[in-house]
Amino acid sequence: MDSADYVIVGAGSAGCVLAARLSGDAGCEVALLEAGGQAQGEQVRQPSQWPLLWDRDEGYGYSTTLQPGYASRSVPCPRGKGLGGTSAINAMLYIRGDPRDFDGWRDAGNPGWGWDDVLACFKRSQDQARGASALHGIGGELPVSDQIDPHPMSLAFIDAAQAQGHGVNPDFNGPRQGGAGLYQTTTRGGERFSTARAFLDPARHRANLQVLTRARVLRIVIEKDRAVAVEFFDGTQVRCMRARREVLLCAGAIDSPRLLMLSGVGDATELQALGIGVRHSLPGVGRNLCDHPGSGLVTGVNEPRPMPASSVHAEAGLFTRSEQIDDGYDNHIQYFLMPYGPLTNAARGRPVGAMAIAQALRPRSRGTVRLRSADPMDTPLIDPAYFTHADDLKLQIEGIRTLRKIFASPVMRSFVGAEFAPGAGVQSDAAMEAALRLSSGCIWHPVGTCRMGPGPGDVVDAQLRVHGLQALRVVDASVMPQITSGNTNAPTIMIAEKASDMVRAAVH
Ligand SMILES: Cc1cc2nc3c(=O)[nH]c(=O)nc-3n(C[C@H](O)[C@H](O)[C@H](O)COP(=O)(O)OP(=O)(O)OC[C@H]3O[C@@H](n4cnc5c(N)ncnc54)[C@H](O)[C@@H]3O)c2cc1C
Repeated sequence: MDSADYVIVGAGSAGCVLAARLSGDAGCEVALLEAGGQAQGEQVRQPSQWPLLWDRDEGYGYSTTLQPGYASRSVPCPRGKGLGGTSAINAMLYIRGDPRDFDGWRDAGNPGWGWDDVLACFKRSQDQARGASALHGIGGELPVSDQIDPHPMSLAFIDAAQAQGHGVNPDFNGPRQGGAGLYQTTTRGGERFSTARAFLDPARHRANLQVLTRARVLRIVIEKDRAVAVEFFDGTQVRCMRARREVLLCAGAIDSPRLLMLSGVGDATELQALGIGVRHSLPGVGRNLCDHPGSGLVTGVNEPRPMPASSVHAEAGLFTRSEQIDDGYDNHIQYFLMPYGPLTNAARGRPVGAMAIAQALRPRSRGTVRLRSADPMDTPLIDPAYFTHADDLKLQIEGIRTLRKIFASPVMRSFVGAEFAPGAGVQSDAAMEAALRLSSGCIWHPVGTCRMGPGPGDVVDAQLRVHGLQALRVVDASVMPQITSGNTNAPTIMIAEKASDMVRAAVH
């Protein structure tokens, strides 16, 4: 049997950071087990290719259950598979969220997670190309860069938003989030930096770090109330990796709850119904799934131009306030302008049209991740329950209307043509609702399924330790008590940074 002090399950956004930080201490041994492969091909490195990576070797090809709020449609739920995990297939936008998000986590019973506590962890990871400041770090592993060749339409979008009174914001991670600007990205020299490339590659030579790819963990072995090992399939046989100190579950918001349930940790009634022996009853596992819905405006373009390899598709952004929601926040909707149009066509070198997407920043719909069966090779049942809370749909409708106004301004008219979707005839609330239920998707930010908190519905405590069990933590996007106001990669990396401090400080 193999063994290590720390056994990390999943080399994604969080797992690679954790492996790099923990193995920095030469006095401990770290084993990092990843279900996928190296994920370092040309298509992973080249930013424009990300929409083509979802159902290849680098992705699981998951999709949601039929969504009642989406007119009984299923939508793709891509998750990265391979070193870097979803940071190897994502759109590379670097957004931390609103400081109130983290204060909200703290106030939900999680001391140490307020904005003032987590800012240092964001900065520690970061190598901000614009230089250091009170809010930005340099010298960290993760490059955060300005785009090198933005489309003129992206610049026009910012001007048009300004003309509509939204203001310009040169830094969405600066003192305020509102306004329009260009996104910064986790790239350098026009190439993607997944967490594998940024954090793991520089650490891989370490003698105390073992990285096993094509190692699919089947379950966590729990003896009495302690996680002692994981069982994994290496493509040929089932093996065991023993954890002398801790098992650190970093399999992401879909697969971390799935692995807990496969290991007998979850809602006892549901586990028993599937024939899984209950090791520890914890009903919150797999609950509270939250994801950002995405609704699009698609138009023609006057002069299509070829997409450069360095484009991340979503070049310009905007954050706006809504008068429909009174939650103490300044911004309620985020936007993404994709000047080369629908993603797959653009990534294949056939840009058609232009597209912009709106997402409600803090959706109120909540869903679940559940097991389909006791077979660890079976795909999970992913039900984000999009649009089951009326507020989410209201914000999406407002978002499309805001985009229409921006697209109608003279500076944008010189780039874009007629509206294809939802379609100029779709105007009333009822028509908009019907159209968005038929066409909305998501921004692929599932979180919350192993929620951090002190309550009976929570899964981990503020030290990310699974309630009621020893030597087992969850460290990934699944622990977020509330979704962050923006994209979720940077906050996930922050979670891993903070967890690495906690794990190292623990007495073993
Ligand atoms: C298409 C897309 C675009 C996105 N764009 C952005 C963006 O532009 N900006 C942004 O901030 N966020 C973006 N996100 C979201 C962001 O990338 C994720 O929130 C983040 O990567 C989640 O990190 P994680 O560590 O929780 O999980 P992951 O990065 O998914 O890591 C989980 C890892 O665990 C492995 N694993 C799972 N099960 C097992 C098992 N049984 N055994 C062994 N290993 C296992 C997986 O293979 C994977 O490597 C995007 C997501 C997608 C899908």
